[in-house]
This record gives sequence, structure tokens and C-alpha cells, in this order.
Amino acid sequence: MDKSFEVIVVGGGFAGVAAVKALGRSGVKVLLIDRNNYHQFQPLLYQVATAQIGVSDVTRTFRGMFQRYPSASVLTANVAAVDVQAHTVTTTDGDTFHAKILVLAAGAAANYFNTPGAEEHAYPLYSVTDAVRLGNAMVHALDAAQRNGSSGGVHVVVVGGGPTGVETAGAIAENFKYVIPKYYSDGVAANSSVHLVDMVPNVLNAFADKNKAYAARHLQQAGVRLKMGSGVTEVRPDGVDFADGTSLPSQITVWAGGLKAGAVVAGSGLDQGRGGRIDVNPDLTAPGAPGVYVLGDAANMTDARGDKLPQLGSCAQQAGKWAARNIRADLTGGQREPFAYRDKGYMAMIGRGAAVAEIGRKRIEMQGPLAFLAWLGVHVVLLSGNRQRISALISWADDYLTHSRSHVVLGAPRD
Ligand SMILES: Cc1cc2nc3c(=O)[nH]c(=O)nc-3n(C[C@H](O)[C@H](O)[C@H](O)COP(=O)(O)OP(=O)(O)OC[C@H]3O[C@@H](n4cnc5c(N)ncnc54)[C@H](O)[C@@H]3O)c2cc1C
Repeated sequence: MDKSFEVIVVGGGFAGVAAVKALGRSGVKVLLIDRNNYHQFQPLLYQVATAQIGVSDVTRTFRGMFQRYPSASVLTANVAAVDVQAHTVTTTDGDTFHAKILVLAAGAAANYFNTPGAEEHAYPLYSVTDAVRLGNAMVHALDAAQRNGSSGGVHVVVVGGGPTGVETAGAIAENFKYVIPKYYSDGVAANSSVHLVDMVPNVLNAFADKNKAYAARHLQQAGVRLKMGSGVTEVRPDGVDFADGTSLPSQITVWAGGLKAGAVVAGSGLDQGRGGRIDVNPDLTAPGAPGVYVLGDAANMTDARGDKLPQLGSCAQQAGKWAARNIRADLTGGQREPFAYRDKGYMAMIGRGAAVAEIGRKRIEMQGPLAFLAWLGVHVVLLSGNRQRISALISWADDYLTHSRSHVVLGAPRD
């Protein structure tokens, strides 16, 4: 295989894929290196973990995605090190590749903030592997509860009241309420609990007050118990301890408590800012490393006004496209432009027919079924691949009408 390229992109998430597509479209000789041979759609991982949709709905092979771009190649390999001065990338297989320009888009990892026991006992949710592992743990815990007869139940604690924690806790509560009673004996769902916990006083703390209140109310109606305003001090195999001296039982603790830059960026030697991410220049290049771009969840990016951008799929995707534009300028002697992010706002799904959204830069607020439809529309558009879109829509319709979970065998149905 060729070892020298015009551009190497490390990481095929929203940012990396957008960059490779835009560069491939212009005939730039670009190599994408990712540890998987597929792109994974992180926003719906919680639905994979709760068996609402399947793994194949949130994954798409890179080779399939880039087949129209002959100048783009793909390597499935784990990146062990990058040299941001020599512009080389070394994989764990020992191969080294060189490019005129490096793009680091290797995303984020769970930030446990040194909480004792969290890394060992909690389940993060940042990859398909994480989602499948969490789903399996849930099935095993439910089966064990069934074996315990009338006293058996499953206690889940979700740490982190941001969108990921809210969506995950809401989906688990709906499973306990509507799905588990169909498949397991009466006591299992009745003895089970899901708690959503955070050190800040509200769920969805970054959202408008009305949306925070709507989310809290709807989660509680769905059966989620909220414990806000006290930080987690320890995660044990069978429970979670809090700074206020209280504890909760938990067979399954989901960690949605924060992000930090992944290992590739942390080991790159670039100066790390908040969350271990790289404070990139307005044009998305890394300070002190000419010809190196850092994008998406690996970077602290700013918009044209200098405001910090959140770790969101839309920011990563737009940054990937923008970086490709600046890279083309680098390769042709043109001028790089500062990243001009088009703010589309944000949203979170809370449960069946319930979501909150704040649309556009003006943050037009929505709650309830309208926000739910907006959420559906945005996610169908964002999903990669028509087959994936159609399949996810069928699963959602089936779930909505029948409360079925066709993507996992949840044990023997009750007679
Ligand atoms: C559960 C969840 C729900 C979310 N919901 C939403 C939402 O509703 N809306 C929204 O806008 N955003 C949402 N986000 C955030 C959004 O998914 C991220 O901001 C986005 O995926 C970041 O894109 P990225 O390209 O920077 O990184 P990622 O998508 O994380 O991609 C990084 C890539 O790098 C690869 N990689 C990492 N390390 C290595 C290595 N050493 N070697 C080789 N390859 C490597 C990984 O395999 C991966 O493919 C959610 C995130 C999560 C986790």
C-alpha cells in the first residue's frame, strides 16, 4: 500500500467523513484511517443499547461511502501515534504513513473525572461496541432478575443529565414500562428502577428553562427518578455513592457524565485546552503545528464571533467540510478562511412523542410532539445511507405502534 498522501484523516466520525468526501470530490489524494471499517452514528447509540434499532441502522462502511471518490482510500487500523511536526501517522501494526497535511478527527472518550470505580464499573456510550455491551448487560440483568422470582428487579443509574443521559434514561424507563412487562414476569418491571443523576440542579442544564422543566416532568412521568444537585463520588459494582452521603443501588451504571479528547490527540504533543481538546485557530488548524487540522470532538472550535462551539454532530460535520475547503487552499496556494459555523440549535428526545428543541441561532423553543417530529426529521436526514434511514423508520414505526423490540431477543415471552 502507498505510504504517502496529500492528506491523511485520522478518524471517520462526522468530521472525518465530511472532510474525506469533500476532498475526494476534488480529487485530492486522501487516506482515512479508522480503527473500524465503518462510520458509526453516535446520536442513536442509546437506541441500539435499548434495542429500538439495530447495529446495521447506525453503521455504514467507509468503502461504501467513498466508492465514488477514486482518490480517497481507507485503512482499517488503530492509530498508535501521530507526529505533528513530521506529519506522520503510525498504526499499532507498526506501519507509518506520511502526508503534506494531517487532519486529526479522532473524537472523544468518556471523562470519568477520576471518580473512583467509574472506569471499572460504569458503561460509557461512545461506540457501537459500547452500545452492544450495555444492551447485553441489560439482558443478562433482566434474565437474572427473572430467576430471582417475585423479588427480582434491575436497578439502573444513568450519570449525567445532558442530552445523552436524558435520552438514555428515558429509553430505559420506557422499556421498563412498556416492553419488559410483555416478556418477563410481573415482578421484574415492578421491582426495577432507573435513576438519572447529576451534580447540577437541572436536567438539560444548557437548555431554556421551559425545556428543562418539560424534560424533568416527562422523564418523571415515564418512571425516571431524578436525583439532581449532588455529584457521584464512587461507582461500585452494585451501587453509586454521592457527595451528600447517600447511595443508590445499581447493577448497571451508565456514564454520560462528560467527554475528553481521545488518546490520539492527548498523545500528539499539541497543547491541550478544556477537556483535553485542542484550542484550534479560527481556520481549524492547530497552533504551533503547520499543516495540522484538529476537528470535531477532539477540538475546542469557535464560530465567526469567537464563541465556543459545543461537541455536536453538526459542528463536527460542518468543520469537516470547512477544513477540506481550507486544505484545498493550502494545496493550491490559496487563502484559508476562518470557520463560519451555521448554528442550527440543538434538541433532545425524551421519550415517546416527547422531545425538546431549540432551533437556530435565535433558539426558537419547541416541546412535545412538534419537537419530536423535528427530532425525527433531523435524525433521518443526518443518518448515513438510504437503507439505514428506511430501516430506522420502520423500527421507529413498529416501536410506536406496538412497543416491540425486534433488535434483541429479550428472553422467553410470558405465556
Ligand atoms: C450517545 C451520544 C448521543 C449524541 N447525540 C447527539 C445528537 O443528538 N445531536 C448531535 O448533534 N450530536 C450528538 N452527539 C455528539 C456527536 O455524536 C459528536 O459530537 C460527533 O460524533 C463528533 O464527531 P467527530 O467526527 O468529532 O468524532 P466521532 O464521531 O467520535 O468519530 C471519531 C472516529 O475516530 C475513530 N478513532 C478514534 N481513535 C482512533 C484511533 N486511535 N485509531 C483509529 N481510529 C480512531 C473512531 O473509531 C471514530 O470513528 C452525541 C454523542 C453521543 C456519544
